[in-house]
Amino acid sequence: THFGFANAAPGEKQGLVDDVFHKVASRYDLMNDLMSGGLHRAWKSAMVTAIGLPRSARAFRLLDVAGGTGDIAFRALARGGAAVAVTALDINGAMLAVGAERAAKRRLSDRLTFVQGNAEDLPFPEKSFDAVTIAFGIRNVPDIPRALREMRRVLKLGGRALVLEFSKVDTPGLDRLYDAFSFNVIPRIGKAVAGDAEPYRYLVESIRRFPDAETFADMMREAGFEQVSATPMTGGVAALHLGFRI
Ligand code: SAM
Repeated sequence: THFGFANAAPGEKQGLVDDVFHKVASRYDLMNDLMSGGLHRAWKSAMVTAIGLPRSARAFRLLDVAGGTGDIAFRALARGGAAVAVTALDINGAMLAVGAERAAKRRLSDRLTFVQGNAEDLPFPEKSFDAVTIAFGIRNVPDIPRALREMRRVLKLGGRALVLEFSKVDTPGLDRLYDAFSFNVIPRIGKAVAGDAEPYRYLVESIRRFPDAETFADMMREAGFEQVSATPMTGGVAALHLGFRI
């Protein structure tokens, strides 16, 4: 059952998450648009704005964790100045392959590096990045506190981390509509487009299990981030979390 899937032991969970993203890698963008009604674009754009990328020629290094498809990386490169360099890290080779192909087509390969690795064990020295982002990725990581500590470790002093993730809808009326949509419509879209409803049941379950914005903000403080804040988006369907390494 899909409950068995979502309740998998930590070691097992990563394998199941990997299977899900292997199945959907090539149609990933289309799925995002269908399932969020295009809203993921506005949410991602809000996150990229909050990075505070320099428009000037000042050098700036961004790490996007769980960013294999390059979605956040391309937005950041389009917004920032010519000396912005992005590293996109993902655990999944299929997602990275999609991103690398797109980067080559857009002739962005020299400013964008793809790295295969685990959010729980980032393959970078301490204090190497000006900002670290993760969009709709932290939910899938088995040991979230550890991933947050790793994000902080690789940040330079004064650098910021931004975590964009589904959150808890707290708007009366919207919550019921949202439940109906996510439990009925999303698995059906998954079956129609990707040929399989099961990964999307897992997706919906994992969203249900993810903590609300205040609880997640506390987890960021626990990991050592300071000046932590959370901004709900679209009535709490998603939330953008910000924290600094001081
Ligand atoms: N950031 C992109 C976006 O917003 O469209 C992709 C988000 S996708 C829902 C989640 C990504 O997290 C997948 O590419 C998956 O391979 C990756 N992922 C899952 N577990 C991971 C881990 N432990 N370390 C790094 N990436 C991971």
